[in-house]
Amino acid sequence: MTSTRPSTRPRTRGNSPTPVLPDVDPAWLQSLDVAALCQALTARVMEAVALCRDYHPGLPQPKVWCDLRGKGAGQAHFGRGGLRFNGQLLEENRHAFFTEVVPHEVAHWLVWHLEDGPTFRPHGREWQTVMLRLFGLSPRVTHSFDTARSSPVPYRYRCACREHGFSARRHANAQAGQEYRCRHCRGRLCLIE
Ligand SMILES: [Zn+2]
Ligand SMILES: [Zn+2]
Repeated sequence: MTSTRPSTRPRTRGNSPTPVLPDVDPAWLQSLDVAALCQALTARVMEAVALCRDYHPGLPQPKVWCDLRGKGAGQAHFGRGGLRFNGQLLEENRHAFFTEVVPHEVAHWLVWHLEDGPTFRPHGREWQTVMLRLFGLSPRVTHSFDTARSSPVPYRYRCACREHGFSARRHANAQAGQEYRCRHCRGRLCLIE
């Protein structure tokens, strides 16, 4: 069927939008073990998709995985037909995942399935419109989660003022002669043996 861009009126109170998905009890979220947490997240995705179906009844159900690693919180994977979430970041930022990350990724899912959706910019006007008008959320693109555990940096370097984590690739470049400097003290970074 033909889908058009959502064109509801913004659900706003004053100047800031009001979240449309019901809030989730943080204490309940904290009580869940990892498997139950991913299961609850899947149910939350279904809830968000149900909301989208008011505007795009043919929207398919995405599969849900909690297998994403690294710095990203979530990722719509159209080739695999679903949404991937970062299990480590989910565990550490449960409430934000339910209130922000799920709508963010489901908005990608919806926009991609609109007519011409694959040609739209990932965080462009259409995605922003879905975030604001359908989910009642400010269309923020980046998260501010602490990624120290989800994206461990295996090599430790130091300058005069602090320690720096290097990825394997950065470490290899440094060992091959590339010079890295601290942007705070301008000192050269040396491997901590
Ligand atoms: Zn995004
Ligand atoms: Zn420094």
